[in-house]
Amino acid sequence: MIYQSTRNTSIKADPSAAVLKGLAEDGGLFVPEEIPELPMTLSALAGLSYEELAFQILRLFLTDYPESELKECIHLAYGQNFDVPGIAPLVKKAGSFYLELFHGRTIAFKDMALSILPHLMTRAAGRMGAKEEIVILTATSGDTGKAALAGFADVPGTRIMVFYPKDGVSEVQKLQMVTQKGGNVEVVGVEGNFDDCQAGVKQIFHDAKLKETLMGKGFRLSSANSINIGRLVPQIVYYIYAYGQLMASGEIREGDEINVCVPTGNFGNILAAFYARQMGLPIKKLISASNENKVLYDFFRTGSYDRNRKFVLTSSPSMDILVSSNLERLIFHISGEDAEKTGELMQSLTNKGRYEITEDMRKKLDCFEAGFATEEDTQKEIRRVYEESGYVLDPHTAVASFVADSLLKEGRVDGSVPMVIASTASPYKFARAVLYGIEGEGSKESDMELVGRLSEKTGLSEPEAVSKLRGAEILHDKTIPASGMEEAVLGFLR
Ligand SMILES: *Cc1c(COP(=O)(O)O)cnc(C)c1O
Repeated sequence: MIYQSTRNTSIKADPSAAVLKGLAEDGGLFVPEEIPELPMTLSALAGLSYEELAFQILRLFLTDYPESELKECIHLAYGQNFDVPGIAPLVKKAGSFYLELFHGRTIAFKDMALSILPHLMTRAAGRMGAKEEIVILTATSGDTGKAALAGFADVPGTRIMVFYPKDGVSEVQKLQMVTQKGGNVEVVGVEGNFDDCQAGVKQIFHDAKLKETLMGKGFRLSSANSINIGRLVPQIVYYIYAYGQLMASGEIREGDEINVCVPTGNFGNILAAFYARQMGLPIKKLISASNENKVLYDFFRTGSYDRNRKFVLTSSPSMDILVSSNLERLIFHISGEDAEKTGELMQSLTNKGRYEITEDMRKKLDCFEAGFATEEDTQKEIRRVYEESGYVLDPHTAVASFVADSLLKEGRVDGSVPMVIASTASPYKFARAVLYGIEGEGSKESDMELVGRLSEKTGLSEPEAVSKLRGAEILHDKTIPASGMEEAVLGFLR
């Protein structure tokens, strides 16, 4: 398997090199030259454990990793970092199937990929004879940062620096990050929103001179953001796993179609579902669910991507994004792998903040549906599902749940097809918004007090990832203006 850049298909990389680099030299994203087919029948795949399935899928995409190494990485990631044996259980509630992707160390779906990425990176560096220390720079809207910190903390040969929007994450998210231990970690609050953080990190990555200077000092910059194929590929696994669970429980028979609805921000999670579909998983519709930052909803509706709009802070901060980086990969695929066209559209996004796809490209989006939820819709959905079934949704999952329910009611998706909703965070990560949804009124209590109350009220036990924040020491309290990110990196590496 060879990867190529979305902006210049003559820029190629082996899987290990692509994992190590993150972004292609020309600023494009690495995409597989060819999407492999599922390696066995759906029934055979349904019989595998999560680790076995991960091995069967990862080996198709990471072809230059020796099998023993891949198995080792998979076991390090999924062997003991999850609090349920099934890793990603599928739960039937209120007529839908919630695929719980939040059983890892930081209780958000980012753990599914960030538990394995550090191991994939260090193994790749070892095999390629790279002597430099790997320096991970990450912009986060809240969940990636902590998951990356947990994944890379004290991994030999790596350092990690995380930038988060100072006022754009929940209290629990912030506490999780600023209490992170590890001799190789740094966490910095930025005066700006997530897009400012992401733009700052991208600018540093695009600065060839800076990268060279750092190389000279023994540091190799890399990214743990979802633009890295080492994050994308592990996410394909759980969609196939969900299908297997539906087969095992008799909800579907081999070959039956399912719908998948994903709360979407940077377009990484749903792109993995798209790849699973390309591989042959019978997915009828891929539903992209947005919050009030509904750039993607508008894109799917009109064919025009336009970031020129007000940025809204919502109760689902990990989806407060106006530039969905991974959409570039989809654009490349629907353009017929036309790197020139993709580069042109991305240039237009940089220069004008917008671009429009052609009629031909739009036709290839048939397998997608899209919807959005307002803040009020999200709160009501948390309440509806709780009252109907006692199940507690986090606000991100509630956005997807609302969209799935609305599309069914409007007849825009087929109700006879099982609906799998990606459940991307534990409600404990967003206790304030969740209680507000359930109780219909706000509260002056701190987030940690609300965590206690959520547990009392719903009987859902508090995950250890949250309990241990009580009384944890604040280790990182630095905040900087958005213009000071490069300086902060140089400071960290001094
Ligand atoms: C990151 C995140 C999302 C969005 O996922 P993308 O891959 O960026 O589209 C949704 N929900 C939660 C809880 C997240 O952490």
